Amino acid sequence: MTSAALPPSSVTVRVPAKVNLELLVGAPRPDGYHPLATVFHAVNLFDEVTVTTAPEWGIAVSGPQALGVPVDGTNLAARAAQRLAEVGGVDEPVHITIRKDIPVAGGMAGGSADAAATLVACDHLWGTGLSRSELEELAAGLGSDVPFLLGGGTAMGSGRGEVLAPVLARGSYHWVFALSEGGLSTPAVYAECDRLRGDRPVPEPSPSPEMMTALRSGDARALGAALSNDLQAAAISLMPALGDVLDAGLEFGALGGVVSGSGPTVAFVAESNEAALDLAVSLTASGAVQDVRRATGPAHGAHVISSPRPG
Ligand code: ATP
Repeated sequence: MTSAALPPSSVTVRVPAKVNLELLVGAPRPDGYHPLATVFHAVNLFDEVTVTTAPEWGIAVSGPQALGVPVDGTNLAARAAQRLAEVGGVDEPVHITIRKDIPVAGGMAGGSADAAATLVACDHLWGTGLSRSELEELAAGLGSDVPFLLGGGTAMGSGRGEVLAPVLARGSYHWVFALSEGGLSTPAVYAECDRLRGDRPVPEPSPSPEMMTALRSGDARALGAALSNDLQAAAISLMPALGDVLDAGLEFGALGGVVSGSGPTVAFVAESNEAALDLAVSLTASGAVQDVRRATGPAHGAHVISSPRPG
């Protein structure tokens, strides 16, 4: 056998974070889940997941956002690898290393991103050869944001967010993300949303024509005006400082701002790269935010960036 025919012993996958450009939340179903209509958008804020053939299963997390990420079987990346091993009939342990740059519990789906990256990395390492739709099905079983992070770009999500449909989207957008100290628990934010709504009837969620038109035209100003999130009021109710962050970003020239997913990260869209830089500087100087990150979107979904062959 030539070395080119040998399987790789280690695979690294890069995976983006997501922001929900629009997140419409229906009334909870009997199983407790809320039906969603959302527009996902992947941005170039990345985690990197490396899987390496090892004598036993293991996981380690490093990087600027490593704090608070579990390093046991509850890590979504570990669950993804175990699940793929079961489905693919693989008995080949891996050590998983996550380099974490996506804020944790920030509403940017970092855990789901790592699960998507691990599926792609292990599929490559083990040569399981699952089709894209089989991988997507496995991804949906791990979490409703995971299928989107396999493909990235800009896409519509329905059901719990796991049923994806393409969106006609032009252009690219400049983002500034305002990070907060501490996270918000996704279930707590949904519960607060239900509490705030009380007995009011909730319409079936469906995407707004304004957002679809904005994306079709590639117009950042129209996109800024169309950003919306049904969970925003609940996130602000649990973390009132987020209201001040939104006000500050708009005052400093953002074209629009929205709480990302279940928060507490706030996403601002800017006119240009320079405007994003100015906005990031102003937000930092104001002291209203704990940290800021700049990014552009759309970004590609989970993809292999290195796969050395054994020497
Ligand atoms: P979403 O936007 O999908 O609601 P989120 O961005 O708010 O998610 P995550 O960063 O995915 O939240 O983390 C939520 C919790 O999941 C964390 O507090 C952590 O305990 C757990 N977790 C499990 N695996 C991971 C992982 N690989 N990275 C980050 N958190 C993880």
